[in-house]
Amino acid sequence: MLRAILLGPPGAGKGTQAAKLVEKYSVPHISTGDIFRKNIKEGTELGKRAQEYMNKGELVPDDLVIEIATSRLLEDDCKDGYLLDGFPRTVHQAEELDKFLQAHGSKLDYAINVAVEKEALITRLTGRRVCEKCGAGFHIVNLQPKVEGVCDECGGKLIQRADDTLETVENRIDVYEKQTMPLIQYYEKAGNIVNVNGDQELDKVFADIVSALGE
Ligand code: AMP
Repeated sequence: MLRAILLGPPGAGKGTQAAKLVEKYSVPHISTGDIFRKNIKEGTELGKRAQEYMNKGELVPDDLVIEIATSRLLEDDCKDGYLLDGFPRTVHQAEELDKFLQAHGSKLDYAINVAVEKEALITRLTGRRVCEKCGAGFHIVNLQPKVEGVCDECGGKLIQRADDTLETVENRIDVYEKQTMPLIQYYEKAGNIVNVNGDQELDKVFADIVSALGE
């Protein structure tokens, strides 16, 4: 059982750690960013609304995200835990999540904060590539696929996310510092924060998280 959120700046490797954590703890991976990207691909109304904000590196309005995340948490597979990745991202979202969980007699076990120095983030994000078919993540320097431009997992084509361009990345980091960083204090106060150094090898970051969770 693991009921946790993953915090950290864009490019901290939350997606990569999330994939490893959900496998270890057998809980669903809930990424609000992935939900929005899926909706954009399918051309839904939600996707159209989210896209305007995402392409500029801005946050999608709280009400919309809260509705998406909480209705996902009501699904059956979340009964025995979940890992939220990229939600909450504002203090208002965190408060609403707490209220929602409380109303359902539940609470978060951990807020896992993966910290990375700002300088490293731009290189990480602009070099990032994702599989357009299965969503697996790669990097042009740090995590190269076996064959350039081709996904190791499924053979799909590797693409750059629309919001991983330099201009958008700079804005996303700015937005993170102003709107999401205050969440660190929020969860410090709540007493369930786990701080991990994200400036290390992927496997070491993962090992640190697992040992901090005490398992
Ligand atoms: P991510 O994949 O988590 O980096 O999210 C990509 C983009 O989706 C963000 O830059 C936001 O525009 C939007 N997004 C994802 N999660 C949230 C959230 N919790 N609050 C607001 N916007 C979000």
